Amino acid sequence: MRRVHLAARIARYVWAAPCTAVGLCLVAPAFLFGATARVVDGAIEIALSTFKSPNFLLGALPFNAITFGHVVLATSQTELDRLRAHEQAHVRQYERWGVFFFVAYPAASLWQLLRCRRPYIDNWFEVQAREGRSNEPREA
Ligand SMILES: [Zn+2]
Repeated sequence: MRRVHLAARIARYVWAAPCTAVGLCLVAPAFLFGATARVVDGAIEIALSTFKSPNFLLGALPFNAITFGHVVLATSQTELDRLRAHEQAHVRQYERWGVFFFVAYPAASLWQLLRCRRPYIDNWFEVQAREGRSNEPREA
């Protein structure tokens, strides 16, 4: 039984690996400017700023945190701590959708826009993440 859980866990990482690779490629240059990384709850969390709050340049980014597969990128450690549950929900979404998440997420936003709703706030994936749930409960 334990082997089945381990195999399922490995499969989720492999399934989301292309998205994780994109995240790692995007964030790699940030390490030249002092970004820090650590593994928390099975994801690589990267804080762009070593300060508790983002500086004015990072404050210009259109997000406080964003997730690519098992890579969670945030403007600061404070934001990582504050948004961990939400971003972990996105990690689970990537584990479910794999590379198709890169299509499904914008499609969900477009669908909301076509319905004259807010493409970010009303996006089904965001609603799900805000509610702290995903379609696939994570095993310990
Ligand atoms: Zn979100």
